[in-house]
Amino acid sequence: MWPNHRATNVIKRRNFWLPLSEFSRLRRRSLIAANDGLREICGYFVCGPDGQVRLTFTLNRTAEPSRFKMRKADLGVCPTRRQVWGTFHSHPLGEEYPSETEANLSNFSPLLMIYSDIFEKIALWGYFRSRTPVRLNLRVRR
Ligand SMILES: [Zn+2]
Repeated sequence: MWPNHRATNVIKRRNFWLPLSEFSRLRRRSLIAANDGLREICGYFVCGPDGQVRLTFTLNRTAEPSRFKMRKADLGVCPTRRQVWGTFHSHPLGEEYPSETEANLSNFSPLLMIYSDIFEKIALWGYFRSRTPVRLNLRVRR
């Protein structure tokens, strides 16, 4: 389902970009969730051949503050399952960096996009056969 490891170097060099309209949508939804008891938003993304990232929001399966939970079954809503690249979620109070425990998620999704609600910043991280995340090149643009 995820891009395989042979594609690692391609992914590391790739210029990912998120349309400003998508970023605005993410920011808006993240703010609403954060104001509702510091809840996080989450979902998955696909990436086009030109590096454009497209987001699909899924249900956060927990109402606990500063937590998110996804089920693999949630990816079933993706019409092009095979093209899913990674997951995203928000940090209501934290920075756009993955937490220590986030490396555990890398089994589920080697690419992780994090939006910091409080700093209004976004970053894309990759776990490539390591628990240390590599920051990938992601820009927001029109
Ligand atoms: Zn997180």
